[in-house]
Amino acid sequence: MKKYAIFILLTFGLLSSGRKNAQKPNIIVIFSDDHALQAISAYGSPYVKTPNIDRIANEGAIFKNTFCTNSICAPSRAVLLTGKYNHINGQYDNRTGTRINTGQPMFPQYLQHNGYQTAWIGKWHINNHPQHFDYWKILPGQGLYYNPDFINMDSSRVRVDGYATDIITDEALSWLDTGRDGSKPFSLVIGHKAPHREWQPDVQDLHAFDDKTFPVPDNFFDEYAGRKAAQFQLMEIKDLRWDYDLKVNTEDVGYVKRMTSSQKAGWDKYYESENARLDTTKMTPKEVALWKYQRYMHDYMACIISLDRNIGRVLDYLDKKGLSENTIVIYSSDQGFYLGEHGWFDKRFMYEQSLRMPFVMRYPKIIKQKTVINDMIVNLDFAPTILELAGVTVPSDMQGKSVLPLVQKGKVPVKWRKSMYYHYYEFPDSHRVMPHFGVRTDRYKLIYFYGDESFWEFYDLNTDPQEMKNGYGDQRNDKIILQLKKELKTLMMQYYDTDALALLEKAG
Ligand code: CA
Repeated sequence: MKKYAIFILLTFGLLSSGRKNAQKPNIIVIFSDDHALQAISAYGSPYVKTPNIDRIANEGAIFKNTFCTNSICAPSRAVLLTGKYNHINGQYDNRTGTRINTGQPMFPQYLQHNGYQTAWIGKWHINNHPQHFDYWKILPGQGLYYNPDFINMDSSRVRVDGYATDIITDEALSWLDTGRDGSKPFSLVIGHKAPHREWQPDVQDLHAFDDKTFPVPDNFFDEYAGRKAAQFQLMEIKDLRWDYDLKVNTEDVGYVKRMTSSQKAGWDKYYESENARLDTTKMTPKEVALWKYQRYMHDYMACIISLDRNIGRVLDYLDKKGLSENTIVIYSSDQGFYLGEHGWFDKRFMYEQSLRMPFVMRYPKIIKQKTVINDMIVNLDFAPTILELAGVTVPSDMQGKSVLPLVQKGKVPVKWRKSMYYHYYEFPDSHRVMPHFGVRTDRYKLIYFYGDESFWEFYDLNTDPQEMKNGYGDQRNDKIILQLKKELKTLMMQYYDTDALALLEKAG
């Protein structure tokens, strides 16, 4: 009788834990690299249509004010994983010497402890190998667009022929098909290389913009008056390299040499005929800059077409397998990017285009279709959000907050952040963007650049959304600047950024 009772208890226990797992949602995070909001139609892009990213937004929620805490690749991934600032998780920059402890607590570890199977496939970009994943297969470092190498879990390397965005999606779908333990909920990060520099489109997308002229931002020829750090940077489109970046005279370009003959033939067919029309001897420097802008935009947007198509493949797969209802799909990118604003490519600065991140999320069980969220969220919030969705208690040392209270059906108003804190470090490097920290509210932004020289910048985003007029030093702004400095100090204390606090004390 006793044995029978134990048997019943065990069976019931197993069944209920199985049922509990069955009810837990699966989680897919598709995380690309350098995808600007200006290149997503759900965010109003004038340049490109992204029907599949828009589908996630339309069937779920779009967050219109999502910001990163440090606008650069590996640091942003470390924030996604840990829910902590870079001065806590250690990934300050992209340098190869930066090797953080990947054994530190990360969201996949908490998921594993709560019955999840976890995987990361594609771009990883942190110098030590992943931990806390039941499966991973990653690009080494930045990875390649054409015929990329991958690192397997046993550290072996394998070259896979094809186009990175397709291959990463193939690998992800193949893991979903054959690598998954059907008795467990899963969490999968699909990390894309696209649309990172050098913006190498798939051959099939090279003609997607034939006859299109991309509109040029108003401040493309910005001369950076009153903004010393902007004067000092090296990330202008006019300085993009002809060969690697712009695909003119590519005979010595490594990634072209790596192409298969059919890839190379498709590539040459497009670029060689387009390049034949270019004669720089007859062009002014401004005309050359504008030509470079058009080529840059063409290549970047063609990479987006492939990215969006591959996101569609994942959504279609979920539909086909009956997984869409119980699988949360999040699309985001590690930071925003300049698409000619201020004359720039790249990121790093706390100005709007690189500070902003896309963030759309679909989960029909709790999020109404076409939900639009204007509250300010930051990438620190992603890990806590994932954990709360999975029914896991958010560890108290994570520095973000779950965004679920903002999006749940039948939500009640919640007290939410009114400002965000930013800190960029990587210097010196080839782009020469000075280290800086700052605070942004819904209307204002205060930035402190530091290094050999140190100075403040202040912007009123209502009257100067393009951040062209540094209002620091104008006494009409003194009162609000004083408030922002107080807010900055409060945030530094809240997030334990003691190095920055010391700099702030000195700056006054
Ligand atoms: Ca990036």
